[in-house]
Amino acid sequence: MPSAPKREPPSNTGCMNLDEMESGEEEIENAMEQALVPSKSAVVEWPGDVSLYRLRNRTIMEDIRVRSHAEATSTQMPTNNDYTVGWACALQEEYIAAQLFLDEKHGKPQALAANDTNAYTLGCMGQHNVVITVFPAGDSGTACAAAVVTHMVHSFPNVKIGLMVGIGGGAPTADRDIRLGDIVVSWPKDGHAGVFQYDFGKTIQNQSFKQEKFLNQPPPALRSAIQDLQAEHRVTPHQLDKAIQEVLRRNPRLQKEFCRPKLTCDRLYRSEVVHPEGQTSCAGCGGNLETRDERTEDEDNPAVHYGLIASANQVMKDARIRDKLAAQKGVLCFEMEAAGLMNTFPCLVVRGISDYADSHKNDTWKGYAAMAATAYVKDLLRSMTFSCVKAEKPIQEGLKELSETVTGMKSEVNELTRRQHEQLHRDVLDWLLVINCAPQHDQLKKHRNDNCGQWLLNDPEFLNWKACMNHTLDCKGIEGAGKTFATSMVIDHLEGSYGNSGAVGIAYLYFNSKEQWGVNESLSDLLSQLAVDASTIDIVKTLHGKHQWKRTRPMQGELLEALKSVIAVYSRTFIILDALDEIAELCRETLLSKLVDLQRTTKLNLFTTSRLHIRTEILYLGTAAVVSLDIVPTDEDIRRYLLDRTKDLPTFVRRDPKLQEDIIDTIARYAEAIFLLARLNFETLLDETSKRNVRDSLQRLEKRSKSMPSEHSNSEVLAMAYTQTIKRLENQHPNRHKLARQTLSWILYSKRALTASELQTALAIRDNDSSFDPTGISDIDIIIESCKGLLISSANSRGVTVRFMHSTAQEYFMGQGNEVIHPEAYLAFTCITHLTFDVFKDPCYDEASMDERHSRYPLYQYAAGNWGRHAEQISEDASDPIMKFLECAPKVRSAWQSSEVSFKSPAGHDWAAEGNPLYAVAPFNLPKIVEMLNARGYNTPCEDEGRRPWDGNMSRRVADQLLQGMRALSASGIQAAHEE
Ligand SMILES: [Zn+2]
Repeated sequence: MPSAPKREPPSNTGCMNLDEMESGEEEIENAMEQALVPSKSAVVEWPGDVSLYRLRNRTIMEDIRVRSHAEATSTQMPTNNDYTVGWACALQEEYIAAQLFLDEKHGKPQALAANDTNAYTLGCMGQHNVVITVFPAGDSGTACAAAVVTHMVHSFPNVKIGLMVGIGGGAPTADRDIRLGDIVVSWPKDGHAGVFQYDFGKTIQNQSFKQEKFLNQPPPALRSAIQDLQAEHRVTPHQLDKAIQEVLRRNPRLQKEFCRPKLTCDRLYRSEVVHPEGQTSCAGCGGNLETRDERTEDEDNPAVHYGLIASANQVMKDARIRDKLAAQKGVLCFEMEAAGLMNTFPCLVVRGISDYADSHKNDTWKGYAAMAATAYVKDLLRSMTFSCVKAEKPIQEGLKELSETVTGMKSEVNELTRRQHEQLHRDVLDWLLVINCAPQHDQLKKHRNDNCGQWLLNDPEFLNWKACMNHTLDCKGIEGAGKTFATSMVIDHLEGSYGNSGAVGIAYLYFNSKEQWGVNESLSDLLSQLAVDASTIDIVKTLHGKHQWKRTRPMQGELLEALKSVIAVYSRTFIILDALDEIAELCRETLLSKLVDLQRTTKLNLFTTSRLHIRTEILYLGTAAVVSLDIVPTDEDIRRYLLDRTKDLPTFVRRDPKLQEDIIDTIARYAEAIFLLARLNFETLLDETSKRNVRDSLQRLEKRSKSMPSEHSNSEVLAMAYTQTIKRLENQHPNRHKLARQTLSWILYSKRALTASELQTALAIRDNDSSFDPTGISDIDIIIESCKGLLISSANSRGVTVRFMHSTAQEYFMGQGNEVIHPEAYLAFTCITHLTFDVFKDPCYDEASMDERHSRYPLYQYAAGNWGRHAEQISEDASDPIMKFLECAPKVRSAWQSSEVSFKSPAGHDWAAEGNPLYAVAPFNLPKIVEMLNARGYNTPCEDEGRRPWDGNMSRRVADQLLQGMRALSASGIQAAHEE
């Protein structure tokens, strides 16, 4: 059973340490008096022979003194059982502060539980005997905290009140004036306990805090003492700063480290100001401070705040996340240990604020903050009575559970740390992965027939390329020869040969004409695929750290440097690039020259495919060994493909083996070594309704093929097949036909690949709509089906996008096929109709409402950025709807806000602010509209009222460049990474 402290504590102001106590004459006299009374503990055993000898040779007086002192020690000093308050610190500064505020020091414990290696300081504070421990130097975090307190409550079984006292990072907000040196006390609020745990790894990536875990409340004795103290402090100002000064006066050596720093050292930077990496001082951070008035006489300084403390295994050094948690959860303070204790060790967490949990974190306030937290705790213990504590249950009773879970917790924390590392690595790779061709590769794998193209993998040139370092294999083939399928086979073959070894790097890109990825995007994506090894993480982490908060993308030089370092980690690296002819020539040349450069210094093999022969380009660029190979599907390849596809035919054909044989024969005979042609011709059979119709269809194919001039191009024969597909489109139900025409028009003319939801929204908008009717949405499957095999959907980093199944389809519709679909004007009018929806008359006032708008209206951003580019192509007079939109200033402002293109005119006019609709027309070539706006009184501020408002201020060439740059911006939706 616990008992009251054996000594009455001295007055609160005094602090007597053990040395003073031992040499105090009065103490000795008292001890002697007691020792003269015979008692059962008169025999004193001294360890060791020498001591014994000395004891025997003492004078009587000496003997009495020794005996009496020993007796005083054994009967009057508290035993381990007498300590009821357990106090844990993480840092040495906190441990020192705790010792300085003890009313009395008791020396070291007599005995400790097995395996307990903690350091302890014993003493008393107020009416309580207090045991203080500190975490081993260098250890911090929740797992360590749990282990330390476990030992403490084993060695001191009557500890009933747990305290975690030290420093933390404050989270000031407009409502909470938290300053350095202030004190934050964990306090239950809104049904939540005073401490909550958050998973830092998650925080970064999702910007949400799903993993939060609210922890136990502090014990009732503490909570009522706090309420008492709160009430007291409301009436009489607290004396914490005075108490600290008094302690420091008595310990002048500590003055420098623990006194209150000057007010000018309390600098709260605005959240967006990030401290430059590697710099110790904030000299480079400028004067971007939040302005705060000095505290008045009536305000407590330091102030004590009660509320939520957030705890995690990592240091919070990020003002944005800090602000988010402060706003969403009301978090006042961040620290690293409490989460490890709270659920099994009921404790109060008291933190002196030593920094603002941001990147400017430094140690200036550490000492004072530790003193402030400790001074508060002393005040708190003073206001808590011994009897209150007596009523509490010993923590150890709840400890059985803790000791069982601590082992599990340790491994859980290790696991968590490992996962956080992995998560960070994944986050960095995701950040680099702007294209992501993996879904497309998976799709190709699913649809290809592995027997086709096997010849390529057995070809001596291929085998030679695979075996030799730094070789390039350049595969060329005609349209639809199956180059992309061949590429996917090569990737799988390499992954099969080397994939699991980890010693060989493999990365690939499937280019397509609609996406038009740039050099940097391509390099970034390749880097992301190659930097998967744990040994490469630091290379990409550095890059990420440099750019993440400025929201910039790495520059070309940085990407190449990183790529070089990453490739150096592997014994060999293969980079595979499909359809090089589908990206812009300039981009292709730059990309190839950079990769050939890399080949000179690293062990890098390149595999490329294209329609054009790019061998000369590569030879021209460098000295790499280049071999060319033609990709031509064999007749057998095509037959295998067709055999594989027979499962898609109507049932009545599948039941007729002879008919199937005829289908394969006829189509293969006229396939001209073009997979695509075989595929298109095969698909025309899918809608047939009887065997007879199938045979008719095959006859027509034969007739058409024979009627082709003997010298015909591949595109001619493909065009013929596309024309057959168009017939299938037209023979559908009128609504499906209309859907197909509109869809193909969007796919053909859209300025970038559309996501499925953008396309669905676009197709759901009708002329004269003034609001969005979601019941007009068609399923994406129906949309794709209505286009009869011309489209495919594929997933990339922006979600599911829809595009032409083959680039030749795009070419076909750009040429002769465009008569069968809607003209580009349809896109312009749909965009303008969308922008004039009533709901857009109010602009968004914050990021959240903007995000909501974009997710509710997926096409809106596209429409806002591209309406004018489509309108440029309209030949008829489209000025009415355009003017109707432009003269509604709020809707124009909303569109401007979403369009991702923001600039001021070169003369510095902020067009949007002036309410001049010309700013919305400025990025586009719409001279007639400019003229009409001028006529209605909207004037360009420059003298020369040229076609575009800014023309007068700069040369036409510069204006064009600006325009181009902006278009690229709005098309890619990616923040420009300015190339030096
Ligand atoms: Zn700084």
